[in-house]
Amino acid sequence: MAGSISEAVRTVAVAGPQSSGDRLVYGVPVISRSAGLPFAVLGLITTDREAVVDSSALRAMSLHFRSLFYQSFERLLMQEITARHHLQDKENERKDALFQTAKRLYDQIDVSSVLKETVQSLEGLYPGSTIELFLSQDYTAVDSRVKPLVFKHSSSDICARAFLEGKPVSERDEAGGIHLAVPFSGKQAVYGVLQVSMTGEQWKESNRASFMMLADTAGSAFENAKLYEQSNLLIGELQVINELTKRLNQSLKLSEIFGFATGELLQVFQAEFCCILKLNKQSGCFEVMSGNIPSMLHEQFSTDYGFCGMVNESKEALIISDYKGSSQIPSKLMDSTKARSLIASPIMVEGEVGGVILIAHRVPNYFSYDNYKLLQVLSTHIGLAITNATLHAEVRRMVITDNLTGLHARHYLDEQISLRQREDACGSLILVDIDYFKRVNDTYGHQIGDRILMQVSGVIKSCIRETDIAARWGGEELAVYLPKVRTDQAYRIADRIRYRVESETEPRVTASCGISEWTYEDDKISVESLFYRADMAMYDAKHHGRNQVQVG
Ligand code: GH3
Ligand code: MG
Ligand code: MG
Repeated sequence: MAGSISEAVRTVAVAGPQSSGDRLVYGVPVISRSAGLPFAVLGLITTDREAVVDSSALRAMSLHFRSLFYQSFERLLMQEITARHHLQDKENERKDALFQTAKRLYDQIDVSSVLKETVQSLEGLYPGSTIELFLSQDYTAVDSRVKPLVFKHSSSDICARAFLEGKPVSERDEAGGIHLAVPFSGKQAVYGVLQVSMTGEQWKESNRASFMMLADTAGSAFENAKLYEQSNLLIGELQVINELTKRLNQSLKLSEIFGFATGELLQVFQAEFCCILKLNKQSGCFEVMSGNIPSMLHEQFSTDYGFCGMVNESKEALIISDYKGSSQIPSKLMDSTKARSLIASPIMVEGEVGGVILIAHRVPNYFSYDNYKLLQVLSTHIGLAITNATLHAEVRRMVITDNLTGLHARHYLDEQISLRQREDACGSLILVDIDYFKRVNDTYGHQIGDRILMQVSGVIKSCIRETDIAARWGGEELAVYLPKVRTDQAYRIADRIRYRVESETEPRVTASCGISEWTYEDDKISVESLFYRADMAMYDAKHHGRNQVQVG
């Protein structure tokens, strides 16, 4: 049999018949269409030795076989090609979905959208799976599938392992389900872990690479959004600082600065309550200088009380996320407003706590760490503005105050009288001159003279009201202006001064007083004429024996 077949191959023609035992064997080559070479041989075996086998029938058979062969070959090929196309389409679809997801992730510029998009897209890409995103940093719940990363301290906690090792970790549970945890990271840090869980049937090994690729993309998109958010926040903060300092520098009045700062702080932090306290040097307490809780205005607290006390002690800012839940510290602000969140910062003046800012809200966990840091910066600027205004007020006080007596300087008295003469209907002036003062100096010396001058000034201060203005008019001549007061009342005050000088000075001196008044009915109203007439009255008092009051 082999003989006729190998001959058919060799001669590319019908070979045989050849006898093989009681059989006849023919070999018919099947010629390929393209190369014209035999690719198969049909063997015809017959036991009928008488059979007449026509070689042209054998060739036709070979051709028929060839066409059948090619037909089925082509069908197989088509099937294969269709299957490949189908796979390719699926792969393209998957790649397209991945690409679209990546694109959508990068399109988001805020952090919460990136997080939402991440879990949503992944659930879309892996139907039937459970997607969870665990974040290590503080986050605001945007989606129930985004959770804080809690370390369970067990080796089976694949999320903790993925986070700590910075690489994907997977495990198969008893039911055959697959859990894959991939670090959620950008270029700068690992922010959490993205976990996918699915049943063994759903799982395909190719999922691993695409899931990791998507986790990577989502991590980068998250980082970008976070950086964008942070830079926006920074720009916002700089604008706030810039605006605040500009406005603070426009004023040198302490009351204006406190009032303005309160309004700004409430607005910047979107807070409900604000109090600014200043150390009152006289009482040694913190005094509420401004705020939006009227009942607390000008209230004083000892420097170790409540949160002010804590800030005073530590010289550091503090943040309370839930006053109700945690604090043993007494706080009138928090109790009276039912506030639960607080940020507080010292106002440093020349290295010491010169005041405290308290900002509160009734919602717990209301203030962020960024708020806390911003308040620290703002309080520095508010502190500088307060220092400036305090220095300015001190300089002004020195300019308008006489050193020796502590009374106002003469120019201040002149200014004030002139101002009142434009606004009020009347006013009186008392001039006080110590009798025989030259003699006192000559007898006891200038130092004792000075002391008497101070004693007389003290008497004057204690005899007048806050609104009256006492000044050192000249050497030992003192003056008091009494706004909206007529001579009869001025006389009583002057006589009280005269009486008390006589009885309280040591060594004892007496004083003479001259009084003058002006009213809106006067022909000519001026500071000079007021003084002139008071001086004339004084001259009368001296002339009539001193230690008396005369009205001009
Ligand atoms: P009188 O007023 O009763 O007519 O007699 P007097 O001796 O007081 O006279 P006058 O008011 O003219 O005297 C002013 C004196 O006051 C001159 C000076 O010795 C004294 N004097 C002025 N300023 C000061 C001061 O700042 N300290 C002291 N110790 N003495 C002063
Ligand atoms: Mg005198
Ligand atoms: Mg005099």
